Amino acid sequence: MIIDAHTHIGFGKAITKSAKQLLAELDRGHVDKAMVFAGAINACTNEALLKEIAPHKKRLFGVGSVSPNGPKSYRPSLASMERWLKSGELRAIKFYLGYEPFYPNDNRLRPYLRLLQKYDRPAIFHSGDVYNVVKGAKLKYAHALHVDDLASEMPDLKIIIAHLGSPWIIDAAQVCYKNENVYADCSGFVYGDFTPVKRKEFAWVWKEFERVTESNGRILFGSDWPISDVRPYIEVVRKLAGRHSAAVFHKNAEKLFGI
Ligand SMILES: [Zn+2]
Repeated sequence: MIIDAHTHIGFGKAITKSAKQLLAELDRGHVDKAMVFAGAINACTNEALLKEIAPHKKRLFGVGSVSPNGPKSYRPSLASMERWLKSGELRAIKFYLGYEPFYPNDNRLRPYLRLLQKYDRPAIFHSGDVYNVVKGAKLKYAHALHVDDLASEMPDLKIIIAHLGSPWIIDAAQVCYKNENVYADCSGFVYGDFTPVKRKEFAWVWKEFERVTESNGRILFGSDWPISDVRPYIEVVRKLAGRHSAAVFHKNAEKLFGI
């Protein structure tokens, strides 16, 4: 069983991909299920995401998004968010730190985070580098160390640091090590396939994370498709996950997302 915990569809300039295209990529990698993210950055509202994945309920699971600084279509009402979380149409909320200038413990997120806690679903934070094609993105907000503030203030909220916080791997790992409610996904390290150099670099990143956390049992496999190709990503992670393979490839995702 393989679950890809981090994929995108979109209808904008940054990403133009449909659910059908995602499914074709998942088939190429023999991936069973995927978490699919909404987001202003990809011109994909929560409503558009739900409509797109609705015919594929057994394989595609929705991750909503909230942009506290964004236009109204990306600031869903609490009532809508609660309806989606309660019904299981959405299994988490992604917040695009860095791409949008706010911190994880920004008060405007709290009502949504309390909903996530109520339904025992995770908050996912973009962490680490930001693509500079996105105008106005600011790195400091995406530093994983800021997740510690929220993780310690809401210890019962499950949190996922996306991209292992790269390049601030040690900081992200330390936040996971200190806070039992914090996980990390390993997505988005390469454009397309891994070059031999990138394979080595990724292995180093993985080992650093493992060294600081004394385990890799809280990592989730994620590709960040269509940024990274799914099949080579699985091959690279499979070599590194070792005894935690089941946790990395599906058990953590099953538990966190309830799928
Ligand atoms: Zn992503």
